[in-house]
Amino acid sequence: MSVLSAPYMHDEAAAFAHVEAMLWPQGPVCPHCGVVDRAYRLTGVRTKATVKNPEGKERHGLWKCRECRKQFTVRKGTIFEESHIDLHLWLQAIHLMVSSKKGISSHQMHRVLGITYKSAWFLTHRIRECMRDGELAPFGGNGGPVEVDETFIGKEPGVTKAKNARGGSHKMKVLTLVDRETKRARSIVVDDLTKATLLPILREKISREAFILTDEAPQYKGLAASADFSGHDWVNHGKDEYVRREAPEVHTNTVEGFYSIFKRGMKDVYQHCGKQHLHRYAAEFDFRYNHRIGNGVDDAERGAIALRSVTGKRLTYQTTN
Ligand SMILES: [Zn+2]
Repeated sequence: MSVLSAPYMHDEAAAFAHVEAMLWPQGPVCPHCGVVDRAYRLTGVRTKATVKNPEGKERHGLWKCRECRKQFTVRKGTIFEESHIDLHLWLQAIHLMVSSKKGISSHQMHRVLGITYKSAWFLTHRIRECMRDGELAPFGGNGGPVEVDETFIGKEPGVTKAKNARGGSHKMKVLTLVDRETKRARSIVVDDLTKATLLPILREKISREAFILTDEAPQYKGLAASADFSGHDWVNHGKDEYVRREAPEVHTNTVEGFYSIFKRGMKDVYQHCGKQHLHRYAAEFDFRYNHRIGNGVDDAERGAIALRSVTGKRLTYQTTN
C-alpha cells in the first residue's frame, strides 16, 4: 500500500491517533505535570465560531489530565505546537522531506500542500530540526576507516571572489566525515579550512582508534601524528589518483558520493541558502543518507524516525532569509 494512502495523511483524527501512538507508547503524557496515562479524551469540543466556520471546528486529540485538571494535545511541546497547519498536512510534509532525495523547496511545499509560502518555510525548517542527530558516538570507534573531505556551497557572506581566485575561498565550507563501517555521515559548517579550525573538530568527532582517509589537501598533512589517530592515508586527486592501486581501500569515494547528492540538492533545490541556515540543510542531507535504503531504512520508517524526534525541537527565530 502506498504511504500516501494511509488514513493519517488525510484524516485529522487519524493523524492525531498516529502521532499519539508514536510519541506516547505508554499512554498520554500530560505536558503540564508529567503524569503518564492519567488523562481522558475530551470529545465534541469545538473552536469558537468564525465567519469561515460558523459552527467552529472540531478540536481533535484533546485530552484532560485527571491529576492537574489541565487540557492538552499531543502537539504540546513539539514542533507542531502553535502552528495552525493541520496535523495531517504536517505528516504529508514530513513524508515529502524524508523521501525526496535532493530535498524539497519551501516553494514546492507551499504549492503541494496548499499552504502559504511563509508557513511552508517554517514547517520545512522545523522538520529539518527533527532531522538533526543528537550527539552521535565518535566515528571510527572500532578502528574502522573514516573518510574526511570538504566541499564548497553557495557564497560566503561578505566575501567577494578575487580575480583569478582558485578554490572556494569565496564560498561557504562544509566538512563531512563518513564512517565506512556504520555507513553514516556527519557534516559540519566551518568558517575556513585551516588545520587550526579542522583539527579540534576531527578530534571531537572521530575516535582515536580510527584510520583517516583524505585527499592530499595540506590541512590534512601529518594528521595521524598531530591528532593521535591510529593512522592516516590519502589519495592524490591532483595527480588523478582516486583509488590507490596497490591498496584499494585508500580512497574518498564514499564521501564524494555523499557530496554528489548534497551539492546537487543545494544547487537545484535550495539555491539561496543563508549561512545561518546551512547547518540545518546539511543535517537534512546527513539524515537521509544515514537512514537510506542501503542502511535498511525505507521511506515509511525514515518518516517515523523523524516523527519520533519532534519533541523539544521548536524554533524561535523569525527571519525568512
Ligand atoms: Zn497533568
